[in-house]
Amino acid sequence: MNVLIWFKRDLRIHDHAALALAADMARDMGGAVLPLFIAEPEVWAANTASARQWAGMADALGDLRDDLGGLGAPLVIRVGAAVEVLSRLTKRAKITHIVSHMETGCEASFARDRAVAAWARRAGVSWQELPQSGVRRGFRGRAGWAMARDAYVATDLVPAPQALRAVQGIEAGPIPSASALRMGLDPCPHRQNAGRVAGLAVMDSFFAVRGVAYAGGISSPLLAERACARISPHLALGSLSLREVSHGLAAKRAERLPSQWARSLAAFESRLAWRDHFIQKLEDQPNLDNVAMQPASDALGRARDAGRLAAWSAGQTGLPFVDAAMRYLNATGWINFRARAMLTSFATYHLWLDWRDVGAELARKFTDYEPGIHWPQIQMQSGVTGVNIPRIYNPIKQGLDQDPTGRFIRQWLPELSPVPDAHVHAPWRWSGAGQILGRRYPEAVVEPSAAAREAKARLSVLRATPRAKAEEFEVLERHTAPSPRRAPSQTAALPQRKAAPDTGQMVMEF
Ligand SMILES: Cc1cc2nc3c(=O)[nH]c(=O)nc-3n(C[C@H](O)[C@H](O)[C@H](O)COP(=O)(O)OP(=O)(O)OC[C@H]3O[C@@H](n4cnc5c(N)ncnc54)[C@H](O)[C@@H]3O)c2cc1C
Repeated sequence: MNVLIWFKRDLRIHDHAALALAADMARDMGGAVLPLFIAEPEVWAANTASARQWAGMADALGDLRDDLGGLGAPLVIRVGAAVEVLSRLTKRAKITHIVSHMETGCEASFARDRAVAAWARRAGVSWQELPQSGVRRGFRGRAGWAMARDAYVATDLVPAPQALRAVQGIEAGPIPSASALRMGLDPCPHRQNAGRVAGLAVMDSFFAVRGVAYAGGISSPLLAERACARISPHLALGSLSLREVSHGLAAKRAERLPSQWARSLAAFESRLAWRDHFIQKLEDQPNLDNVAMQPASDALGRARDAGRLAAWSAGQTGLPFVDAAMRYLNATGWINFRARAMLTSFATYHLWLDWRDVGAELARKFTDYEPGIHWPQIQMQSGVTGVNIPRIYNPIKQGLDQDPTGRFIRQWLPELSPVPDAHVHAPWRWSGAGQILGRRYPEAVVEPSAAAREAKARLSVLRATPRAKAEEFEVLERHTAPSPRRAPSQTAALPQRKAAPDTGQMVMEF
């Protein structure tokens, strides 16, 4: 009677409710624990997966293997389909119980979990899934959700087990390489290490020093690299838990802090809450990588244009701030929120590309790909939710606001080094442009003001249709707090929303 702890996106031993439960169950039954990670080729063949993400996973698996080894039960790693691997190992290791965290993913991960649940029932193996954040399964609507989430975050951390009794005779297996999982080359020279050790260091440095600059520092790509917490790959892979970060925040708050720190911590705390808020949307509607919250928006007829997508993806659109942001992302696997929003807005409005293609392309670049944040954000930034203020970022204004001297642009687009500061954001306005444009750097693929005007006009036509208005009501019902409830007939009278000033990180509509 042994217990298998199935690690997925929870690669740590600290504050790990499922691991603690597995340890308790094994002890109570007089059995042993088998810690398992399954590298599923199907998961890594998805159009959102990339070798840089696997490299982060391998960092985290390495640290987890060290930590579990220290407890006495080294991590077992297998490559294969989950049902096949679990079926083989449970027989061989006499497993009667499986424990894991409750994963929120797109349809494919839900389907995999449904298949595992069906197999477990047939095989007579129990499988228990425990939450590791404020996201809840089967929570109807949003009434009471935020309170339940905050209550979870405030609960005590779960200590790591002191020791584990390992199932004997099971070979640990190597951490496979990206090429063994059939992933192509994906150079990312400045990738952040996603393991536990690096995660603790990045969290410590944020709360000790860097966090003071959070408020006011997160919008410029020049400052954000340091001012942002940089915990996203760790939260995505679970090498840090959300609750550990929240408790770190509370401990920092308990110090006597100057007002700049207090402002920064308040801003940071709201981002942590947004995390669960967004992931809950995918939990409630797992097809958000493919189906728009407002399906009527498919009538916008956005293009599936491989050429434009490739130019945007390579940082070759001829719009310097967009291209610099993209090349930075390609090289680091991370970029700040505002730049992510601008990249999405530029691709889906100015280039009029389908949000699904844009979302998948960006997902592969992000080492912190978290489907529950990513897809609702992609939908929001491309105007297909029906309920958020569509914001079309002006890429030249963004550059002038966030990178006034063009330092960031020059760093990532060295071909623009001869362009004077005054023209680096719009080099076509420079008298010497002919030396560079169309030779070393592309002509702008669109005229940004005209492209934005056209996108806005198309969007306005869509939003005025009865179908779009009816769907708007459905989105409010499904993804927002239902109080005060609105009847469908009242949706036409929903207040007109004005575009918010371009100052905050994001407009939270709900
Ligand atoms: C189009 C688009 C796609 C995105 N895709 C992802 C993704 O795949 N994975 C991901 O982690 N974040 C995503 N974000 C949100 C945000 O940009 C990142 O969380 C942030 O840049 C990560 O860096 P950080 O940890 O330093 O963030 P910080 O600003 O220090 O925030 C701390 C944590 O709070 C959460 N958070 C911050 N901002 C948001 C937000 N706007 N919505 C929800 N949660 C938030 C994240 O977990 C983040 O790690 C996306 C944003 C956009 C606009």
